[in-house]
Amino acid sequence: MEEFDYYEILEVTRNASSEEIKKAFRKKAMACHPDRNPDNPEAEEQFKKINEAYEVLSDESKRATYDRFGKAGLQGMGAGSGGMGGFGDIFGDIFEGFFGGGGRRKTQRDDLKFQLDMAIALTLDFKEAVFGCKREIEVPYKVACEECGGSGAKKKEVCPDCQGQGQIGIRQGFMTFAQTCPRCQGSGEVITEKCPKCDAKGYKTQKEKIKIDIPEGVFEGARIRVSGKGNQGKNGERGDLYIQISIKNDEHFIRDGENIYVEVPVFFTTILLGGEIKIPSLRGELDLKIPVGSKDRTQFVFEGHGVKNIQRNYYGDLIVEINITYPKKLSNEQKELISKLQESFGDHSQPHKSTLKKAFEKAKKWFSEFKQ
Ligand SMILES: [Zn+2]
Ligand SMILES: [Zn+2]
Repeated sequence: MEEFDYYEILEVTRNASSEEIKKAFRKKAMACHPDRNPDNPEAEEQFKKINEAYEVLSDESKRATYDRFGKAGLQGMGAGSGGMGGFGDIFGDIFEGFFGGGGRRKTQRDDLKFQLDMAIALTLDFKEAVFGCKREIEVPYKVACEECGGSGAKKKEVCPDCQGQGQIGIRQGFMTFAQTCPRCQGSGEVITEKCPKCDAKGYKTQKEKIKIDIPEGVFEGARIRVSGKGNQGKNGERGDLYIQISIKNDEHFIRDGENIYVEVPVFFTTILLGGEIKIPSLRGELDLKIPVGSKDRTQFVFEGHGVKNIQRNYYGDLIVEINITYPKKLSNEQKELISKLQESFGDHSQPHKSTLKKAFEKAKKWFSEFKQ
């Protein structure tokens, strides 16, 4: 496949904000959308590239990996197929059913002004997510007002805008679309007198401490369901609590799904001599053998030294990328040593001369001919 740079294709700078990236994507995607460019394979190809770039750059952890390790870093962790999908997606579907805004039909169960299921956000440290942890958190939840049973009303009447239908028709041209009634938000009723106890809110707030077990390997965006710890309806029934996980970055390790990346500086003499160095891993030190003449940015894979994959119950890999470092300054003694080292290689120390010998001679000949 042809190589292209994700930032270049979207025409944004490498430190563009996520908002700028989103804007650039929309603009580009609109321009070369296949619907707008029928039978134009070039536009279609461009459209694919823009989508690929956006998929990576719009995801913070994928972007961080791409920034440091390029596309190679994204391979093998399911980039392009939604990577760590599954788990989160399933919850996403459930979630939308409960919390999905506009357009969806509201469940009019018990005439409540609020949903029984609720969600909170929880931020974990990098290592808490990698190894799992126990947490005790205080969660505020809603309890239906005893006075009005959670409806927020002392008196109600049929919504005058939709006549209790909960929907109104919107005409567009010669077509009519049904839309949720904005006045009653689909309930078909409007409050004519507020409940004085809760001031029409329908609930009071209570706090509760709950203990949760965060599983080893939990990933960014995962939603953990705690059954029966959501809001409380008028008969005392409780909904479910969903905990939306986000994870802080670590200063050394980069996590991508179940794989962990770490950059290790290696001094140039180790590259010349070869050797073994100690490197940090999630679970302590590991030995990395550096073969003589290793190239800069070579990656070494330690299988099974990554993070646990929750869904499939295996461990990902630790990927070590070496960054060859050279001294910025040399002492006089060091300069002398290196000069001696260079001399000891004879002609080999000037590969440009020996491999390009013919080219040098040819050019010389041209020049002498030209002077005549
Ligand atoms: Zn009330
Ligand atoms: Zn209405």
